[in-house]
Amino acid sequence: MEQILAPVVFNRHLTGDYWLLEVEAPNVAAALRPGQFVNIRIEGSMSPYLRRPFSVYRVSTDRRRLQVAYKIIGEGTRLMKETMPADGRCDVIGPLGHGFSLPTNARRIAVIGRGIGIAALPTLVDEAAMRGIEVHAYLSARTRDNLVAEDIFAAYGFPVFTHTDEQATGGLVTDPLVKLSQTMQFDAFYVCGSNRLARAIHGIATAQGVPAEIAMEQHMACGFGDCHGCVIKINTDRDNLEESALREVCFHGPVFNTWEVLHA
Ligand SMILES: Cc1cc2nc3c(=O)[nH]c(=O)nc-3n(C[C@H](O)[C@H](O)[C@H](O)COP(=O)(O)OP(=O)(O)OC[C@H]3O[C@@H](n4cnc5c(N)ncnc54)[C@H](O)[C@@H]3O)c2cc1C
Repeated sequence: MEQILAPVVFNRHLTGDYWLLEVEAPNVAAALRPGQFVNIRIEGSMSPYLRRPFSVYRVSTDRRRLQVAYKIIGEGTRLMKETMPADGRCDVIGPLGHGFSLPTNARRIAVIGRGIGIAALPTLVDEAAMRGIEVHAYLSARTRDNLVAEDIFAAYGFPVFTHTDEQATGGLVTDPLVKLSQTMQFDAFYVCGSNRLARAIHGIATAQGVPAEIAMEQHMACGFGDCHGCVIKINTDRDNLEESALREVCFHGPVFNTWEVLHA
């Protein structure tokens, strides 16, 4: 983990409500594992006072630059959009947290994301592709222009199923996956951006007897376990949901097993 004033390569509109920031941060990019995140602050500004956490969306092939796809939510992301021009600098700490685990013998996985939660998945899919693992992607968003990363996953030739609320067909993006999983075995499932989807994925993974992981989002300050500002209750025994403990999302997560965070 390091803190760096990273030169901004570009900061441009991505699609819908989302922006894409690329910075030069060679040590962070080189060390980053899929599912880890960075904690960002606007250089020289006291507003917002606390850093804002973001998944790393992509890492360049030379592993010198990293991208963050972000949704404009409040003061911090509005200022990121307005005050981080190309040739400016961005105060970055990272890589932070524990990311996804990709089983060594995995042959086929499924990734499932909703909205800007999808931003946690491309680094995982990049690694899976590099290892020759087949990926099935299920992406959902409110509107078509708020779907991200479809092009990234499709460029690998992986099947991508999309679903938007405006299609108004009802159901979940995971419905076709439920059907497919009756005839096709997966080695792991990864979900981000929706507890409802996480619950559906947990059911499929349990039926197949394989792990499912979820990348959690929680308000946080330091990002490395010091301030205890992002503590959540997690299950510590899969077979006895009475057993629980408090854990920092930033340090013990943001990736957890679905059974750890889905409470009955
Ligand atoms: C590990 C991690 C990875 C993340 N990755 C991404 C990413 O890749 N792209 C992205 O756009 N966002 C991501 N987020 C969420 C992002 O950190 C928040 O959207 C951002 O901090 C909002 O800052 P703001 O100052 O614009 O809004 P604020 O003014 O802080 O908040 C505006 C509103 O949004 C709510 N809010 C803010 N942050 C969160 C949160 N974390 N969970 C629930 N509600 C929240 C607040 O309660 C408030 O109502 C991630 C969060 C975590 C913890």
